[in-house]
Amino acid sequence: MPPVFDKKTVRDIAPDVAGKRVLVRADLNAPLKEEGDAIVVSDDARIAGSVPTIKLLVESGAKVIVCSHLGRPKDHDPKLSLAPVAARLGELLGKPVQLAPALVGPEVEALVDGLGAGDVLLLENSRYEVGETKNDPELAAQLGRLADFYVNDAFGAAHRAHATTEGVTHHVGSAVAGLLLEKEVSTLRGIIEAPEHPLVVVLGGAKVSDKVAVIDSFLKVADAILIGGAMAFSFYTAQGHKTGNSLVEEAGVALAAKALEDAKDSGCELVLPTDLVLGREFSADTEVQELDGVDVPDDWMGLDIGPKSAADYAARVKSAATVFWNGPMGAFELAPFAAGTRTVAQAMADADGVTVVGGGDSAAAIAEFGFADDVTHLSTGGGAALELVEGKELPGVEALNNV
Ligand code: ADP
Ligand code: MG
Repeated sequence: MPPVFDKKTVRDIAPDVAGKRVLVRADLNAPLKEEGDAIVVSDDARIAGSVPTIKLLVESGAKVIVCSHLGRPKDHDPKLSLAPVAARLGELLGKPVQLAPALVGPEVEALVDGLGAGDVLLLENSRYEVGETKNDPELAAQLGRLADFYVNDAFGAAHRAHATTEGVTHHVGSAVAGLLLEKEVSTLRGIIEAPEHPLVVVLGGAKVSDKVAVIDSFLKVADAILIGGAMAFSFYTAQGHKTGNSLVEEAGVALAAKALEDAKDSGCELVLPTDLVLGREFSADTEVQELDGVDVPDDWMGLDIGPKSAADYAARVKSAATVFWNGPMGAFELAPFAAGTRTVAQAMADADGVTVVGGGDSAAAIAEFGFADDVTHLSTGGGAALELVEGKELPGVEALNNV
């Protein structure tokens, strides 16, 4: 098996961090909700995912400084403060987590100076600083001065070269991967570089243009790619089928035609649904009918794969050695059109092979159906996961020290 992870990790530095300042870039970009007057975390999966690395550092006696972005704040929008995240992180760690008033600056430096071994300080939303997304070298240098070691555990942000994910690595003695980042990268890269066969890929969601690089990549290595979601209608258009009022991405039609052509000379089967569930409109209380075929009549739209296709996809998923899934099979947010996505999710949960879900809406669907603990790996990063299986290098990973 080729080496799939060639970066130093937090395990390599743990013996040397006692009493030292360690800056951890985590992905604490958790969804929030209002509860009375308070803002609280509504799903703590990402925070929980960051805990093992922080715990290891706390137990190793480091002074732990954690940073993350949260949402896309305009200026200093107080609604996107990391305060609710600090509270939740403290609960998960079983120790208080102090929130600094900013990412960098004299007040932050004073708080860092006051840290003892095993203390945890969370820096305020990195995107309150305009230099974060610009990867401003001065901001990166200021961050670097806060710490002796840097650990990147923010897989969900690793495809962005920002000050906290890339720039800072040039201003610390040592820059290594966190445990979550290591697991994400080795699992997802392993699927492309050394998968157990048969490798079955399930791809759905809205647009072919979002997924075409993923299709290209898997045509070289997978045994089958099963298509669902609105994306299927660009393929049907390319094949000359009628699509009625279905959502068709026009720019996707040529891409779909090329993928169908490329599939012919590949060792990979490109599979389209053979039946559909139709609705009059994109709504939960619309008129619904099943169609045994794929020519959508006028005034109807295809909103889910049909039961025959769902059963076929489920059987293929269950007999695979490795499955990668990204993108729902239909408009799963609407109850009448959730069955295809649910059937595939159930098959992922029941499968004996390695099952990996590539973030985004499919990860949300798996969680909503209650199967989050029944798959091998549920990625915390949508965009980053797709870029990895496309074979791209992630700037936040490339910047780390090699083993
Ligand atoms: P992911 O985030 O997993 O990559 P996408 O963002 O590409 O997935 O697509 C998810 C969206 O696609 C969902 O909001 C879903 O409602 C929509 N969708 C899936 N199938 C259809 C369809 N047949 N018609 C309209 N919308 C669809
Ligand atoms: Mg999405």
